[in-house]
Amino acid sequence: MKKLILATHNRHKCDELLELMKNSREVVSLDDINITEDIPETGNTFMENARQKAEYVRQRMGDEVEILADDSGLEVFALGGEPGVLSARYAGEAHNDNANTAKLLENLKNSDDRSARFVTVLAYMHNGQTEFFEGEVRGTIINECRGNGGFGYDPVFVPEGYEQTFAEVSAEVKNSMSHRGNAFRAWKKSLEE
Ligand code: IMP
Repeated sequence: MKKLILATHNRHKCDELLELMKNSREVVSLDDINITEDIPETGNTFMENARQKAEYVRQRMGDEVEILADDSGLEVFALGGEPGVLSARYAGEAHNDNANTAKLLENLKNSDDRSARFVTVLAYMHNGQTEFFEGEVRGTIINECRGNGGFGYDPVFVPEGYEQTFAEVSAEVKNSMSHRGNAFRAWKKSLEE
């Protein structure tokens, strides 16, 4: 079975991918290949960051393996696309979900336009080439946190066509329409073509 390295320390993302691959690839995470440090993300776009993560792994592992790296975030239209690539550290380097969400609500408190989208860009490196795949989900930012599931900005994000936040729906429902799910599905579809 072909080996696919997912450039993340997040076991949850690997499990999501495993589910999608249904045993056609052996999916391994960074920890499985003894890359324990955080890979630097210094790009100005999701694409640059995804490429940077994939390239870091390629330099360690060579061209023989397949590598998939993802970078995601929230873009709020009234804030000119913020927090964007700064989503994880919007309120500082602490990567604190509650502080990030509080800052977002504070910055949006006088805004009537609450529209936003989550975006994921995937970089797929194989045989010396890199391909990119994007997934998004559109929705609105509500005024207060609702729900206990998920992570990050999930408690304030209501996807289009729903009344619940991402933190109120099951992981299965979220994956079926999320930015990450859509990007992974776009990538998987290209493998099948
Ligand atoms: P990552 O690139 O997937 O690690 O995401 C970077 C940051 O974007 C996270 O730390 C969250 O703040 C935010 N984010 C990405 N995806 C989601 C999501 O599905 N729900 C909520 N927040 C997310």
